[in-house]
Amino acid sequence: MSVWLRLKPQSPLLIGRLKADSSYLVTLPYIPGRVVRGAWAEGRRMAGNAATISAAARQLRIWNFHPIREGMAYSLPFPISAWTCKRHPGFQPQGHGVLDSLIPRWVYRLLEERARLPVPFQIVCDVCGDRMTPVGGYYGVSGGGRARISVPLQFQTKVALSRQRRAAMEGMLYQVTAIAPQEDLAFVGRVHGPPNLIREVEEALTQVGIGALTRRGYGQVRVCRGDPPAYPGLRERVERFNEIFRKVYEDLARLVPGAPASPPEGTFFTIDLLAPGVFREDPLGPPMLWPTLDLGGRALRPLFWITRPTLVGGWSTAWGLPKPVDLAALAGSTYGFRWRDSEWGPLDFRALEQLEEAGVGERTDEGFGELMVCHPFHLEVEPV
Ligand SMILES: [Zn+2]
Repeated sequence: MSVWLRLKPQSPLLIGRLKADSSYLVTLPYIPGRVVRGAWAEGRRMAGNAATISAAARQLRIWNFHPIREGMAYSLPFPISAWTCKRHPGFQPQGHGVLDSLIPRWVYRLLEERARLPVPFQIVCDVCGDRMTPVGGYYGVSGGGRARISVPLQFQTKVALSRQRRAAMEGMLYQVTAIAPQEDLAFVGRVHGPPNLIREVEEALTQVGIGALTRRGYGQVRVCRGDPPAYPGLRERVERFNEIFRKVYEDLARLVPGAPASPPEGTFFTIDLLAPGVFREDPLGPPMLWPTLDLGGRALRPLFWITRPTLVGGWSTAWGLPKPVDLAALAGSTYGFRWRDSEWGPLDFRALEQLEEAGVGERTDEGFGELMVCHPFHLEVEPV
C-alpha cells in the first residue's frame, strides 16, 4: 500500500541535530524520510515494543516530505541546472525569469564532441544581459503559474538542558532556527508499507511529534492523507523532454559549421535527485557523485551530469547510534542518459516508474536517492 501524507506544522519544527562543536541549530527546509521513520520508531519504543522496530522497519519505505503551499498542484526542488538573473532574480513578471540550463548545456556538449564550436557556452539574462546564477530551493505549480516556495523560519535562543541532571548547563546557550508554522504551509511525502504500519506512522507523528526538541513543544504536526501531487505523467515528461532536446539541438546545430543536423538516435532522459544521493559502484569502494542505473538488465552510465558534493550523516533508529558520514550528491543533481532504441528495443516506461518508486543508490531506506525521471522544469529553456 502506498499513501501520500500531508504534514501541517502546528508548532516550530526543528529538523536537524545539535552538533557537539556548535551552538547553532539550523533546520533543514524539508523533512527527510529518516526523521519521520525516527518518530515512528520512538512511538514503538514508548509503547514498549523497541525489540520489534528493526523487523517492522524493513516493511516500511518512507520518502522525504517536501514543502508545499495550499492550492498548489505540486512542488519540487529546483534542479541545480535552474538559473535566474543575478540582478533581478525570480519568476516573471516580478523577476527577470528563471530558466533551465540542462538541455542547452547537454546539447552544447554533444555538439562539442562532433564539431568545432565558434563560441563558448554562455547564458545571460534576456532582459538585462546580466549573468545568471543557480536558483536553489523549491518551487510550486498552480493554475496561475509558478512560485518559489520560501520556508518561513523563526529564531530563538535556548538554554541547553543536561539530560542526566535535568538542569540548565551553565553558560550553554544555543541559537535555534526552526521552521515557523503557517496556515497554508504543509509538507508532502509518500509512505509505502502494510496498512497497519502506515496507520502507526500517522499516530506516532501526531503523538510523538517530529524532529528535535519535541519535549519543549517543537515538532507538533497535524497529519492527513492527500491526493498524489499532480505532476505531468512520466511518459509525457520523457516525450516532451525529447521534443525540446531535438529542437534546441537543431537550432544550435544550424550555427555550427560541419555539425550533424540532428542529435544521435535514441531516447534521451534524465534522473533528477529530489534528495541527496549516496552512490557507490563497489560496496567497499569510495562514494561517487553519479549513479549507474540498472535498466532492463543493462548497466547505464550517465553521459552528462550537473552535480555538487555534500556530506550526509544520519541516525540509526534501530540502534540509536550515529551512522557514518557519507559523501553524497546534492539534491537537485541531474544526470542525463541515452537509451539506444534501435539497438536495445523501445525504452521500458514501466521500468522507469519502478526506478522512481525504489530510488537510486544506497541508504534509500533513509530517504536518500529519491528521484524523478525528466524533471518538468528541464523543459523551461526560455525564461519563465
Ligand atoms: Zn536580468
